[in-house]
Amino acid sequence: MADKDMWSKKAAAFTSDAKIFIDGKYCDAASGKTFDNIAPGQNRTIGKNASGDTEDINRAVASAKRVFDAGTWRDMNPRDKKIIMLRWAQLLGENREELAFLEAIDTGRPISDALSVDAPNSTRVIQWYAETIDKTYDEIAPAPRNALAMITREPLGVIGAVVPWNYPMMITSWKLGPAIAMGNSIIVKPAENSSLSALKMAELATAAGLPDGVFNVVPGLGAEAGQALARHMDVAKIAFTGSGPTGRKMMQYAAESNMKAVSLELGGKSPQVILKDCVDLQAAASTIGWAIYYNAGQTCNAGSRIIIEKEIKEELFQHLHTFLESFVVGDQCDPATQMAGLVSEIQRDRVNSYLDLIGQEGEKLIFGGEKTSGNDLLIKPTLVDNVKPDSRLAQEEIFGPVLVAIDANNEDHALQLANRTEYGLAASVWTSDIAKAHKFARNLRAGTVWVNTFDMLDVITPFGGFGASGGGRDKSLHALDSYSALKTTWVDLN
Ligand code: NAD
Repeated sequence: MADKDMWSKKAAAFTSDAKIFIDGKYCDAASGKTFDNIAPGQNRTIGKNASGDTEDINRAVASAKRVFDAGTWRDMNPRDKKIIMLRWAQLLGENREELAFLEAIDTGRPISDALSVDAPNSTRVIQWYAETIDKTYDEIAPAPRNALAMITREPLGVIGAVVPWNYPMMITSWKLGPAIAMGNSIIVKPAENSSLSALKMAELATAAGLPDGVFNVVPGLGAEAGQALARHMDVAKIAFTGSGPTGRKMMQYAAESNMKAVSLELGGKSPQVILKDCVDLQAAASTIGWAIYYNAGQTCNAGSRIIIEKEIKEELFQHLHTFLESFVVGDQCDPATQMAGLVSEIQRDRVNSYLDLIGQEGEKLIFGGEKTSGNDLLIKPTLVDNVKPDSRLAQEEIFGPVLVAIDANNEDHALQLANRTEYGLAASVWTSDIAKAHKFARNLRAGTVWVNTFDMLDVITPFGGFGASGGGRDKSLHALDSYSALKTTWVDLN
């Protein structure tokens, strides 16, 4: 990995005039409108983003529909489709450093995270779905001997993907992989402040031979480009990742337009339950620390609530202290940095507003907790003890490096507290008792449960939640189902 000086110089010199990507080409917004592109970790405006609106969405959907209706991609021999997607994955791999750099510039995350996590994982997702193309079989139903009943998967058509800023490239790849592998066309509407990696991914897809119009990117404001996409009559499905309030709007837009399918991946307040029989509290503390402080807590499944049996609380806190002594917080361009600043002043002010709540209901600050202002977006890792289970600190998604601790009297109480949330994205339990591990795994209401670990995620398993976390599932072979519809063909053999 290159050194801090090299990344700092590159970041200081970088400028961007990001466009829209439609029909295999870059273009400006039809209106000519732009908005500032701010690099949060660099504290400066690096250029302009094209501000797409209804007209650009109409152009993108027309292109996506044209190529879908023509069957250019949908009906291509699966072997050839796979070769194109694999070539695309190879180009993503070859451009790893540039993709990682763009991701880091747009989001403020540490360059080392973007290089070691975001870029390679996104590449793996595209490669993995490419490999499914010639390995996915349809079904024959057990019909009477005088009939042949086939169950086949049909692509849906034009997919709209509306994605957030916290993991722009990875979340975009979770939509692109299964949607394109199934033969659909797709339009990605990135979050306002993070469109660079999606644009580069589209450029590389075209270079790999993906037909024009299969993958379009329209940056723009949510209320303009996002809404136009979700209301479009020729869009068959909206794949959304983002906040609960916007998720509700997606359902409303679908209901008020063509009743398109909507899949929602929303927020979380994931519990990490630590039982007193946990054998290695030091190892647990390290994982628990990473689970909340990675990406400065701007992670939908961040383990933001610890629910802990009182007897072991002090010891765990000591280990968390020790963990933080060697946890490097600071400049995103230093490859040693493990946590950098937040994505924007808006997000920093939102986290500040939660720090203001500490102490109002008897909470006790263990470490961190200082607010920042002006252009300082770095909030230090924070731990708050004595948090009341129904308080805002315990119930609301902070989306910052703030861990709250809730006391449990015993294991049943811990389970009850863990499930006392409207969310249900992820959860973990730390125990050395196999029966307790299974009891928690079965009873925790979450789309992913980790036992004695956290954040083990890969494209091979589904990811999504229950309740206010949204019911959509990204990743794994199951995601292919949400970008296709089953068709029955019944042939009379008489
Ligand atoms: P957001 O809902 O504000 O924005 C998400 C996307 O929706 C952006 O592209 C935005 O431009 C667009 N959008 C906003 N308003 C819109 C509107 N009226 N019509 C159409 N599109 C609109 O969320 P955010 O602040 O970007 O992201 C943070 C949230 O996302 C957090 O709550 C986090 O937990 C959640 N999230 C969930 C997952 C998951 O997989 N479950 C992953 C990442 C983030």
